Amino acid sequence: MIRPICRMGNPILRKKTQEVLKNFLKTKEFGQLLEDMHDSMEHYGGIGIAAPQIGIDWQLALIELMNFNRYGEEVSFPLTVFINPRIEYLTTDLQGFWEGCLSVPGLRGFVERPNKIKVTYWNQNGEEQEIIAQGFLATVLQHELDHLGGILYVDRIKDPKLLSYQEEFEEFIQERTIE
Ligand code: ZN
Repeated sequence: MIRPICRMGNPILRKKTQEVLKNFLKTKEFGQLLEDMHDSMEHYGGIGIAAPQIGIDWQLALIELMNFNRYGEEVSFPLTVFINPRIEYLTTDLQGFWEGCLSVPGLRGFVERPNKIKVTYWNQNGEEQEIIAQGFLATVLQHELDHLGGILYVDRIKDPKLLSYQEEFEEFIQERTIE
């Protein structure tokens, strides 16, 4: 079921989320929630979605990159569920992308983030997982995990001049994008 997306200004997006309990993962409600998040992400055309964006203050996010085009180079990452994720920065080297967010519709902003991270998390079965991500995927992950700490990408824009409406972005800037 497609759920409405909470937009910037809604206090749910600014709350710290709670850990998901392991015994909840086996429930029907949890399965339904994952399905709803996936449906919503697809419907609104996102490549990631975090639980607070549909009004749930849990440490839960989904990412799926299907042949996502970046600078003419296609990036793919299978549908992955991140539960109670923890991030570790493996470098201080930064990379910048023009980010977008379902909760901040119609805008793009340039954000610099470390370009190599390690994330440990549970998958939907509660199994401990670990991923080392670089480049664009590292940015997507950091963007989604920020949502779980009440942070939006606009908080991380260093130069407010690097915030644009989508149409102006396409007309004048069009570079790398993230949804
Ligand atoms: Zn977002």
